[in-house]
Amino acid sequence: MGRKGIPGQRHIPQRTCAGCGAKRPKREMVRIVRLANGEVAVDTTGKRPGRGTYLCPVLSCWETALKRGRLDHALRGPLSSQDRDALRAYALAHLSPRPEAKEA
Ligand SMILES: [Zn+2]
Repeated sequence: MGRKGIPGQRHIPQRTCAGCGAKRPKREMVRIVRLANGEVAVDTTGKRPGRGTYLCPVLSCWETALKRGRLDHALRGPLSSQDRDALRAYALAHLSPRPEAKEA
C-alpha cells in the first residue's frame, strides 16, 4: 500500500470481449475468472487470482460467449452447468439486454 501510480503514464488497459470480440477499457468490462478449484466466477473486484477473461457488460455478449463455447476456450476448459447457470443468472440480474438500453 502507499505506492504511487506510474507518473506520466496514461495508458488505459484494454481487454477483448470473449463474446463479441470488441475491445474496451478494462474498467468497463466484467471479468470472469476460473478459480484454483476449477469453479468459474464473476470477478467484480478484478483482482481474484486465476485465469481470467472479459465480457462487455451486455447480456448478448454473455449469451454469445456461453452458447458458442467461447468462454470454455478462453478459460481453458469446459464450464460446468452450474457455472453457466451462475453466469447467466448474474447477467440477467445485472446487465442490460443491449448496449444502449439502460435500466432505470
Ligand atoms: Zn462484447
